[in-house]
Amino acid sequence: MTELERKQDRAPIPSGWEYATAPESRDIVQLRERYGLFVGGDWLEPKETYTTIDPSSEEPLAEVGQATEEEVGLAVAAAREAFENGWSALPGSERAKYLFRIARILQERSREFAVLESLNGGKPIRESRDVDLPLSAAHFFYYAGWADKLEYAFPNRTPKSLGVAGQIIPWNFPLLMLAWKIAPALAAGNTVVLKPAETTPLSALLFCDVIRQAELPPGVVNIITGDGRAGAALVKAEVDKVAFTGSTEVGKAIQRELAGTGKKLTLELGGKAANVIFDDAALDQAVEGIINGIYFNQGHVCCAGSRLLVQESIYEPVISKLKRRLQTLRVGDPLDKNTDVGAINSRAQLDRIQELVRSGEEEGAEIYQPPCRLPEKGYWFVPTVFTNVAQSYRIAQEEIFGPVLSVLTFRTPDEAVEKANNTPYGLSAGVWTEKGSRILWMAQKLRAGVIWANTYNRFDPASPFGGYKESGFGREGGLHGLEPYLKFE
Ligand code: NAP
Ligand code: MG
Repeated sequence: MTELERKQDRAPIPSGWEYATAPESRDIVQLRERYGLFVGGDWLEPKETYTTIDPSSEEPLAEVGQATEEEVGLAVAAAREAFENGWSALPGSERAKYLFRIARILQERSREFAVLESLNGGKPIRESRDVDLPLSAAHFFYYAGWADKLEYAFPNRTPKSLGVAGQIIPWNFPLLMLAWKIAPALAAGNTVVLKPAETTPLSALLFCDVIRQAELPPGVVNIITGDGRAGAALVKAEVDKVAFTGSTEVGKAIQRELAGTGKKLTLELGGKAANVIFDDAALDQAVEGIINGIYFNQGHVCCAGSRLLVQESIYEPVISKLKRRLQTLRVGDPLDKNTDVGAINSRAQLDRIQELVRSGEEEGAEIYQPPCRLPEKGYWFVPTVFTNVAQSYRIAQEEIFGPVLSVLTFRTPDEAVEKANNTPYGLSAGVWTEKGSRILWMAQKLRAGVIWANTYNRFDPASPFGGYKESGFGREGGLHGLEPYLKFE
């Protein structure tokens, strides 16, 4: 370490410097009191409803439908009718036209969507504005480009659409996961029924407005809201393909349910990614990468770098830089533009994080949390680092899905690979080193679908994303993401 770096590390953190609040106005979002189910291009009055809330204040936002099995059936029938009576026969260039329209409207209305996403999900406006929205639009643009080029994408294979896709998405990136699901499905000529997560239905419901604005034919996209029961009904309904993103537990149940039915399935499940820091890495950049890897979106990220593997020789400086950086994270109002870490998505998720953190302390890990004032109402968790973690501890094995990092060490590259792969998951990994050859060597050895080198949590619609082992199968994004929505004759 240079003399200058040492001095910087000892300098006190300027705790007296408070940022003024910089709240984004929520006026741009016009919420209805009550939302129906979006079926066949119209709002269907639901038999049952529930209240969706703002997790940062626990304030109710709106009443939304809890779709029954019968209502799910109506949505699937509307999608079938739209598929058979027009959509599947449209030339690809026509389908592309609608996808381009949707992308443009999302860009035009991005502030409205970003505010709504932060209101209903608890994520910082900085992230919904700069990550969720631009990437959602980019996915529609990207797949719009493929819609009329399928035969070039899969030469000599005669790609054909499947029919109706049933799509189930989680609450961590509500609109982005909707884009990942709907854009390739429509580009490939299918129609869809999508169920957003119980806690974050509002951006999908606002998206129904976009669909109408784009004049997409009725029934091509149907949105049904509700909890896991609505998801289970969608899996059982007359769909040709199921695309699921969520927990490994539910993914396994869906796989059991679909076995032998001939319905196609892709599963994007959990992860417990290793973020591996070698002693020749640029440490300050690596620390930023560690922070981004685990505290981005409150750690509600399936590819989060939740296991930090540090080479033993640089353990001390990395941990001290990391703790110092942690003290500068601003936790609070998701709509404040200065906020780094927002609210935990739900009471249930907060309970799960607290339970796993307790287990870490009981098993003998050492906990570090920076001084932090949390709002009184709502669901919050202080960004946390665990050191002294053994590979057998639950916090090193299970997906916490919260702002909690478990630190382990290694001595040799072989040991790093062995520890990184020692997990039932295999979604993503990070490697920090100056040596290009080592990056390539690690990329070959790590059993993970996505490997970032000297960066973390980078996404591009052209780049396929998906897992090994209990992280699921099938890829989303890129050409790979089109294939599960096609059959070949
Ligand atoms: P989850 O239950 O698997 O939720 C994913 C989606 O599946 C939601 O829309 C959910 O509805 C729905 N669902 C629930 N039960 C279903 C069933 N039997 N059949 C069909 N669909 C069903 O996940 P969660 O409860 O929200 O979170 C639990 C854990 O899953 C997290 O702690 C995290 O470890 C992991 N997770 C991973 C990802 C990821 O991106 N890989 C995303 C979210 C969560 P409800 O919203 O009503 O549950
Ligand atoms: Mg659930």
